[in-house]
Order: sequence, then structure tokens, then C-alpha cells
Amino acid sequence: MLRIAIQSKGRLNEESLTLLQDIGIEVDAPKRKLLSRSQTFPIEALYLRDDDIPGVVAGGTAALGIVGLNEVEEKGAQVDVLCRLGFGGCRLSLAIPKGETYEGPEWFSGRRIATSYPNILRKFLKNTKIDAIIEEITGSVEIAPAVGIADAIFDIVSSGSTLIANGLKEVETVFESEAVLIARPGLSEDEQALVDDLLFRIESENVSRGKKYLLMNLPKASLDEAIRILPAMRSPTVMPLASGDWCSLHHLTR
Ligand code: ATP
Ligand code: MG
Repeated sequence: MLRIAIQSKGRLNEESLTLLQDIGIEVDAPKRKLLSRSQTFPIEALYLRDDDIPGVVAGGTAALGIVGLNEVEEKGAQVDVLCRLGFGGCRLSLAIPKGETYEGPEWFSGRRIATSYPNILRKFLKNTKIDAIIEEITGSVEIAPAVGIADAIFDIVSSGSTLIANGLKEVETVFESEAVLIARPGLSEDEQALVDDLLFRIESENVSRGKKYLLMNLPKASLDEAIRILPAMRSPTVMPLASGDWCSLHHLTR
């Protein structure tokens, strides 16, 4: 039996549950229970705040987890990243008041930067040899410059509209993130077999997402034209029909 840590509420919760559902794993939503056992796969979901997921997986309380790569990186958790999941896309960026002139990272020298991601920021500042002051705050980072807590921010950006609404402009993208499936290193053989099954299902789901399986019977004489018109992925399957001058064409299409 595998335990998988999932965000209990927030941006990744719904899509994490949808992913499991799409690969045939039904678990109850985190309404009343912290733990929910699936009836369709030997797995149970453990619902947590996303901040706690990397540590819970690294520590072995859960074998697997679904969390943003940004949280894995920030926590420096010793986990294996098994695959990217194609949702929760965002980036961690530096942003400054929009009226400022920006010519490069030296702008940040001696300035105060508010963030909930001090470790990723510290690494960036070290690599770029910039000496700045990190002001760690846990929420509402984007209002920090306006209220005088900091000169700039380092925060999650997806569309950029929050920055604009707060009179800021993005000047450096430091880290690209999306939701990932993570695992505790050193899974047992039984656990690994279940994880391989899961990964196979996720891979198949990724390949088939947004595609349709098309089946049509047609005269053999029209086959070349049909193949030419249809946006085939690879070579379609053609099967004979009882009536010799007809055939059946099957293929995967977008
Ligand atoms: P929790 O209560 O679980 O701690 P949270 O408030 O820390 O939740 P959310 O805002 O739900 O976190 O975001 C979870 C993750 O979703 C982020 O860590 C990030 O990987 C991803 N994400 C994608 N787009 C955005 C965005 N625009 N803002 C914030 N997070 C985003
Ligand atoms: Mg959080």
C-alpha cells in the first residue's frame, strides 16, 4: 500500500485529484478526513499543506507526494522527482517598482527583498554575487514595497497580473516550476512495483490527453485520401472487412 501526500486545499488540490481520477484512482476529497483510502488502487491520500509535503515524503511518512517543484527546491528535501505533471505552472521571479530603471541584478545590491522563498533567493544572490537583504515574510509579499517592508520582492508569478495590480514589474525569472510527483528514495520492491504502475498510467494519460480514437469503415479506394486528410499521429491501423472492397481505419487524432 502506498501513501501519497496531496495538498488539502489550494491551487494544486483539485488538479492533483483530477490526475488520480484520470488514471483510475478514486479517493475521497479532503472534506472530513486527513487520510482517504482508495477503493480502486492500493493507495491512500494524505491531505496536507503544500509546505509540509516535501518533508513528509523525505521523512518517509508518505512514499509519494504531489507538490510544486518550487516547494521541493525551497525545502531542499531529499526526494526523487519522478515526473512533471503538466499543471501548477508558475515561476519565481524578482520584481521591482515599475518606475525604477533596471539594468541588471546589481540593482539589488544593498536592497531589501521580501520573499517566502529565502533559500532559492539566497542561492540566486550567491550565484550572481549580489549582496542584498532578504526579508522573509509568509504571505502578501506583493504589497511589501508599497508598505515599506522592502524595496523589491521575490515571489511566484503566473500571469503577472498581481504584480501589475501592485505597481511592480518582473525583472528576473529565477526558477521555473510546475507540479511534480515526488518519491521517498529507497522504496521497497513492492512499493516500486506500484509506483511503476502509476507512472505507466500517468504516461499513458499524458499521451492520450486531448486526443480521440477514430474508427471508420470506408471503401479501400478512398483510403489514401482519408489518410492524407486526417491528422494522423503515426501510421494508422487499417483492417480488412468481410466485404473485400471495404476496410476499417483506426487512428488516434487530436
Ligand atoms: P497551503 O495552504 O497548502 O500552504 P499555499 O497558499 O502555500 O497553500 P497555493 O497558493 O495553493 O499555496 O499554491 C500551491 C502551489 O501552486 C505553489 O507552490 C506553486 O507551485 C503553484 N502555483 C501555480 N500558480 C501559482 C500562482 N499564481 N500563485 C501561487 N502558486 C501557484
Ligand atoms: Mg503553502
